[in-house]
Amino acid sequence: MNTGKPLPYLAGYPATLVEQVRQLIVQDKVADLLLGRYPDAHDIRTDKALYDYVQQLKNEHLRNAGQLSKVMFDSKLQVLRNALGTHTTHSRVQGLNLKAKKEIRIASLFKDAPPEFLRMIVVHELAHMKQREHDKAFYQLCMHMEPDYGQLEFDLRIYLSYRDTGGAALWQPAAVQDTTSHPFLT
Ligand SMILES: [Zn+2]
Repeated sequence: MNTGKPLPYLAGYPATLVEQVRQLIVQDKVADLLLGRYPDAHDIRTDKALYDYVQQLKNEHLRNAGQLSKVMFDSKLQVLRNALGTHTTHSRVQGLNLKAKKEIRIASLFKDAPPEFLRMIVVHELAHMKQREHDKAFYQLCMHMEPDYGQLEFDLRIYLSYRDTGGAALWQPAAVQDTTSHPFLT
């Protein structure tokens, strides 16, 4: 692994913390650490299932934050640095009301991920329905929806840094794991 590489996913974290992550990567300890903390992948495989999942979280915490028009996994977001998800608002005039339609796209990297990481990114994008910037109010809203938000975002960024330096994917869809774990059964 390329150890001297900068770790852009950890920009903004204290240098000592970044250095600790770099050591975890160099010593090849990231997989054990993350799989120990997050052993299982979630089973949300389709955009429809993702929509229902996001809608349910929204109903719980942001019922009056406007209507969600579209939710999808987006494979083009996967490689874009720091664009893990996006949220857009299309405003259109409907009768006399200005209706805002909100769209949430989640990087397909989160398709093969533990439920905690999916929840973290969905909470992040939902929070943007109320707060545009990554300011204090934004993170307070994230923590309101997911008290462990800060730890989850940091752990996700460790995973992204590990992938960015050549580490293999750590989670696979449950269906794939089933077939590969019984290779002699037909
Ligand atoms: Zn954001």
